[in-house]
Amino acid sequence: MPKLNIWQWLSIVINFCVYLLFGWKFAVVMIVGLVCHELGHLIVAKKMGTKTNGFYIVLLVGAVSDIVPCRTLWKQARMLLAGPIVGNIPAIIAIVLYWATGIQWLACAAFWISAFNALNLLPMSPILDGGRIFDAITYSINKKMGLCLAAIMSLVGLAISLVCGFPITGIVMTALGFLILFGEYEKQRQESRYAHELNCEYDDVSINRPLPMTHKQMWMTALIWLVAMLVLTAVCVYVWHIGLVSLRLLLRHGLTKR
Ligand SMILES: [Zn+2]
Repeated sequence: MPKLNIWQWLSIVINFCVYLLFGWKFAVVMIVGLVCHELGHLIVAKKMGTKTNGFYIVLLVGAVSDIVPCRTLWKQARMLLAGPIVGNIPAIIAIVLYWATGIQWLACAAFWISAFNALNLLPMSPILDGGRIFDAITYSINKKMGLCLAAIMSLVGLAISLVCGFPITGIVMTALGFLILFGEYEKQRQESRYAHELNCEYDDVSINRPLPMTHKQMWMTALIWLVAMLVLTAVCVYVWHIGLVSLRLLLRHGLTKR
């Protein structure tokens, strides 16, 4: 179990209190969902020997783990996959409890937790977990191609957010993403200069870069990613099908109360 400092605990308590304004069920779902997701990243990172420093819950944003970059992209991919997979255990428990008790808000909770984790697995580079998993695969094939595809996926993410009516989230995420990608661009330019000076192949020069994945590891990552996506989507589709998606089931007064 990762140790949290006083500020990290405080971030959990403050966020819980803010979400309580919308009702205890909503607060529990938000905090349990976010905490389990971050614990997934942290526990797996720690197991693989990567240094971790806990996580913070950030209002309106979600949560951020403090993990030292992994030494290999295979470790990185497993650490990233663990967030949405472990983070969805509460949703599976909620569905089982719904079957056992018939309490409707539990199914609704399962939908929102699964939807959050499924969205997080979308390949929007380089901010979402799915985007970083996508990057781990593409950078393993070729770092220049990885950078180009990450920029394209980042713009696709922006377009989707604009179409779906989340312009501010999309713009902030894309701006942050491009800041990260610019750092990578500068690193690749430096590697190119070194390759020229040392008279060696560009792909043989690496500045502080995690080791790429083997083909087997890339396929494993893609397979786990796909299965996780299918399970999360199945939970969402099931709850949609039984008609218990409405947030009103979680909120104190319901969305439409005047
Ligand atoms: Zn995550």
